Amino acid sequence: MTNNSEKAETMDNIVSLAKRRGFVFPGSDIYGGLKGTWDLGPLGVALNNRIKSEWWKMFVDGREDMYGLDSSILMNEKVWEASGHTGAGFADPLIEDMKTGERFRADHLLKDNGIEAEGLSAAEMDVLITDNALKSPAGNQLSKVKDFNLMFETQVGAEGKYKSYLRPETAQGIFVNFKNVVDTMSPKLPFGIAQIGKAFRNEIAPREWLFRVREFEQMEIEYFVQEENWESEYEKMLVDLRAWHRHLGLSDDNIREYEVPENDLAHYSKRTIDFEYNFPGKGFDELAGFAYRTDHDLKSHEEASGVKMRYTPVEGAPFIPHVLEPSFGIGRALTAVLCEAYTEDEMGGDVRTYLKLPNHLAPYRVAVSPLLKNKPQLVEKARSVFTTLKAEFGNVAWDDNGNVGKRYRRQDEIGTPYCIVIDFETLGEEDESLKDTVTVRDRDTGKQQRVAIAELTAYLK
Ligand code: ATP
Repeated sequence: MTNNSEKAETMDNIVSLAKRRGFVFPGSDIYGGLKGTWDLGPLGVALNNRIKSEWWKMFVDGREDMYGLDSSILMNEKVWEASGHTGAGFADPLIEDMKTGERFRADHLLKDNGIEAEGLSAAEMDVLITDNALKSPAGNQLSKVKDFNLMFETQVGAEGKYKSYLRPETAQGIFVNFKNVVDTMSPKLPFGIAQIGKAFRNEIAPREWLFRVREFEQMEIEYFVQEENWESEYEKMLVDLRAWHRHLGLSDDNIREYEVPENDLAHYSKRTIDFEYNFPGKGFDELAGFAYRTDHDLKSHEEASGVKMRYTPVEGAPFIPHVLEPSFGIGRALTAVLCEAYTEDEMGGDVRTYLKLPNHLAPYRVAVSPLLKNKPQLVEKARSVFTTLKAEFGNVAWDDNGNVGKRYRRQDEIGTPYCIVIDFETLGEEDESLKDTVTVRDRDTGKQQRVAIAELTAYLK
């Protein structure tokens, strides 16, 4: 890939492959869709679940200092007042095309015109838009910029007595449970609480496939530390976050760590690094964030709720710990994984497309098929291999559609690392020494190897 139009084409190809092969469908498709929503198909949910379980393995089960949590999506509205989400801090600058009514984010419109607007207020953006005589993309007059809160509001109870919100991040569920976890688990500082779950933001202009949507999943950690240790703990966590992105198969060349400049940091944050991925046709943009949030959140909740949010050390007085927050969006991770894996090469004189997914992420670990589906002996033997492997691994595909060449292409396109074919040699009809061996074909090289059925489980592990 050499230029931007080729890269944009790659992204289009990935979106189309994802739809065609059952990874990602547009939400509410039969009714014309619902902007900013996407549904995961059978292969998409498999990949998504694998990303989540690998993350949980690495950051929770694989460590002694992490505790899991699954808090409610609906919370008392006071949570969002204390966290600042009901205020201007969680609003995006909205601007409207006066003729078509189409809405945009003013900061994105400025950026698309080569003007950086990060951290500016609505009024400041207004000035820039007027000074530069900017028009909408359709060439029309623009409205004034106004703050638009991104939270979805809802009512709780039959009489709609209480206001609530669909949570715009999972993090606040962690903060409000800080005391519960400390009281029940007696963790030793530093320790973290991790959560995976849905988040909702009424984005002004959802765009770029799964990149900016209105309903998405996050994987977040609040890692509690002593104030004086925040820098050393930040460095340690950075090493783990880099390891995570490598575990997703993302190459170092496609990952950039963007140190958010001091003047763009939230007032309570002393350091934030965004992990950016080099999306085809788009360039580097945020994949995950890693912020040092001081004691801001626990302090705000302590003040607003009147409940002490303190950690009691073995010696000394209780104190509010400081916090490091790695925050990942799963949709963006899934997109990056697909972009990284998408490969075109030439095999047998044809162009082939395949997903070079890491084995631990591939929706199917292996596909099993009989050479011919109208030969009962082959089918029977293949079914028995399939049943054994399925009981062992779970994510095993049965594929007897079309000829073997077509099956290989199909499995290549969905990233299945191995295809097993049961042929006449397996039955020992041609060469007794090959009885009970099968062909195992490698997705990346197309090379085939004979492996004894008895060895298959170990081979695939
Ligand atoms: P952006 O600047 O792109 O709007 P953000 O800085 O507001 O993102 P955070 O609040 O830090 O994002 O959320 C943490 C992570 O959640 C992001 O790094 C991203 O992966 C994911 N995320 C946030 N908003 C969206 C969205 N609208 N669609 C998909 N993923 C999102």
